[in-house]
Order: sequence, then structure tokens, then C-alpha cells
Amino acid sequence: MALISIGKMKEIMDIPESAEILLNKPAKEIKFPLKLKTSKDGFICFDAFVVYHNVAIGPAKGGIRFSSHATLEETKKLAEIMSYKNALMGLPFGGGKSGIQFDPYKVDNFTRVAIVKEYVHQIKDELYSSAYIPAPDMGSIPNDMAVIYGETGMPESVTGKPVAVGGLPGRLQATGRGISRAIKLGSEKLLRKSLKDTEIVIQGFGNVGRWTAYALKEMDAKIIAVQDAGGAIYNKKGLDIDALFKHSPNSNDTVKGFSGAEELSSDDFFSLKCDIFIPAALENVITEKTAPKLNTKMVVEGANDPTTEEGEKILLDKGIIVLPDFFANSGGVVASYIEWRNAKSGNQLSEGEVYEIINNKIEYAFFAGLKKKEELKSESLREAFFALSLNAIIEAMRARMWI
Ligand code: NAD
Repeated sequence: MALISIGKMKEIMDIPESAEILLNKPAKEIKFPLKLKTSKDGFICFDAFVVYHNVAIGPAKGGIRFSSHATLEETKKLAEIMSYKNALMGLPFGGGKSGIQFDPYKVDNFTRVAIVKEYVHQIKDELYSSAYIPAPDMGSIPNDMAVIYGETGMPESVTGKPVAVGGLPGRLQATGRGISRAIKLGSEKLLRKSLKDTEIVIQGFGNVGRWTAYALKEMDAKIIAVQDAGGAIYNKKGLDIDALFKHSPNSNDTVKGFSGAEELSSDDFFSLKCDIFIPAALENVITEKTAPKLNTKMVVEGANDPTTEEGEKILLDKGIIVLPDFFANSGGVVASYIEWRNAKSGNQLSEGEVYEIINNKIEYAFFAGLKKKEELKSESLREAFFALSLNAIIEAMRARMWI
């Protein structure tokens, strides 16, 4: 339940009916078979999707997911999350997303490049008109964005490119950096605990999980457990994150077998006592089954949509604070915005300057969310952040005379 239904939000804020209609329908849905002859006898055909949720504020911005589980429904939901994430961060973008239904780890690099080129060919009008600006998401990497740039020849047509071809220093780490800032604020202002006195558990050691862990380590936080697709590891004294990077250097490697920790079952992983639990891997992992086990004070959603509606209800009943995905993991799209802006203007920023902009935007939204929660007497921070995003999008729709 990354988001709350517009119907429920109407109980606490004023949402015109015309706005409700537009927000409940994606602005555009594209579905096509991505087909390629790969050799004399080889042929592949994958379903591909591009969705714009709401583009009142600006062009559709959101990543491309490469996954054998990608569906149109999932792409629609992720595009919707992007609308609210971009609006909350004050970025001049609407919400978009793509999905290509294949397992990127099961194709060779030549096929991978051909798939990305065919994707560009199929949606060239969207890309050349700047109606949609993609970036990496689960399964896709900066090199795929370099291929897109190679096809369009327009540096502003895609973000998350490698630094060597106009990418932004710090883009790779940006989502994790932003999450770590949200965690610092949450820990100090809501848990009233200094970050260095907290015990943290992370699910996922891909792009989001590993760079969150890295940034937290730099702030002296103690990460006691990490789980990925290969298994879970635990060290009560805190994991040595530098050594874990050496053991698991890439997003598709596993933390399993790390010598500086003991192994844990998935059940034990979810019930570990900690201050902060960060789901940074998959959707729907905090559910009616796992939420009762969680023994934490705060959940910070690194992944998109990791908590189900039933899961969230249990967390709130248990008094666990939730920092929602469209706030906590927005550092990546803030960096994308800076890369897009630089591509248009020729400006360049250092890694430190990028992190400073991300920190400022996260901090601004955090305090605005706390104020809104107080004002609306809302039951969760998710509701308060969502109200802020909705206000910004409704204002843009009014300005365009859509409503
Ligand atoms: P990734 O592919 O780099 O990493 C995914 C991680 O999840 C890997 O460590 C993998 O082992 C782990 N995983 C897979 N199945 C698992 C399982 N069953 N149990 C435990 N761990 C499992 O993906 P990513 O880019 O880190 O994205 C993770 C999430 O964060 C997604 O929801 C994505 O939409 C979201 N997100 C990503 C970005 C970004 O900049 N990459 C930005 C915002 C949000």
C-alpha cells in the first residue's frame, strides 16, 4: 500500500471529484511485445509496458524495471508512486514507469543491448518528445541508460547514465544517501536516539540496500543484519560493511557465506530486535504474516511498496513509525532531476553538492510532513506526506485548467 486510496484521503482533505477521476486513471498506458530474432534459430518475445500516471506537474519520470515478474498492473502502481514522489520533492516531473518482462541475469550482453535498443525504437516518440524520461530501476543498470542515450543522442532524454557519458557523480549512491538522511532525521526527531546508538536491519543488498548500508556506516550506525535473495546474516556487534562489499561486490551477488557473521533463517531475520528495519528489496514483504513478527521501533521503506495494507495496520497498532517509500527513497529521483537539469544547461556538480541538495530536499519534506500530520491529525506519516503530494498535483491540474 505505498499509497492510500483517494476515497480515504477525502475524509481528511478537500479533493475535487474531477481530480479524483484523473488521479484514479493513468494518463497513458502503452503495452507492446518486445520481439527480437537473436540468431538463426533464436527468437525472444517479452511483454513491455510504459505508463504515465499523472503529468500535470511535468513530463513522466520514472525507472525501467527489468524483471520476469513485471506486469502492466505493477507498472501502473509504480508510475503512480512516482507521481507522488516527484510532487513531494517539489520536482518538475509527473509520474511514469516502464517494465520489460524478462530476467536480465539470463541474457548475454549482446542480447541485453539489443533489447534496450528495441525498447527505444518502440517508444521513440515518447523519448524524443521528452514526454517520458527513464532511469534505472530494479534489474536495469547505468549501462542500459548509456545505450538509451546512444540511441536518442539527447543527454536529457534519460538519467542514471554512467558518469563517463554525462551521468551525475553520486547518482548510483543517491537513493541510499537519501534513505540514510531520512533515517537520521527519523532516529533523532522521532525515536529521540542518536544514529550511532541505533541497531539497524536491512533487507536487500542491491543498489538501494548496499548504498544505504554504506551511508549509514559513514554515520557510525550499527547494521546488525542483512538479508538478500541468497540468505540472511547477523552480527550482534555490527557488520563490517566494507568487508561485506568485498564479499558481495555486485547487486546480484549474495551476502550469504560472509565470514564476519552468522547465518539466520528468514523467520529469525524478521523477528530480530532492532531500532530500525529497512525493507530495500521487494514489494509486499511486510504483510499480515511478517508484521506481527517485527520487533522494531521504525520501518523505513527503501523499496517501493514493501508494506501491504494489512501489514501497515499491524505496524501502526504496534506503535511502529513508518517512513513511507515515496518520501524515504526519493534521493534517486532528486539526483535524476539534477542530472536532467545539468544535461540541459551544461552545468556540472560535485558528488558532495549532489548529496547536499538531496539532504536539503529530504529534510524540507520531513518537517513539512510532520507539520501536516499535526494539522490533519492524521494517523500516519504516509497520510501526511500523501496529502502534501496531492495538494501539489491538484494545484498543477487547476493551473492547467484540467479541473
Ligand atoms: P537491485 O536489483 O539492485 O537489488 C535487489 C536486492 O533484493 C538484491 O540484493 C536481491 O538479492 C534482493 N532480493 C531479491 N529477492 C529477495 C528475497 N526474496 N528476499 C530478500 N532479498 C531479496 O534493486 P534495487 O535497485 O536495489 O531496488 C530495490 C527496491 O528499491 C525496488 O523496490 C526498487 O523499485 C526500489 N527503488 C530503487 C531505486 C534505485 O535508484 N535503484 C530508487 C527508488 C526505489
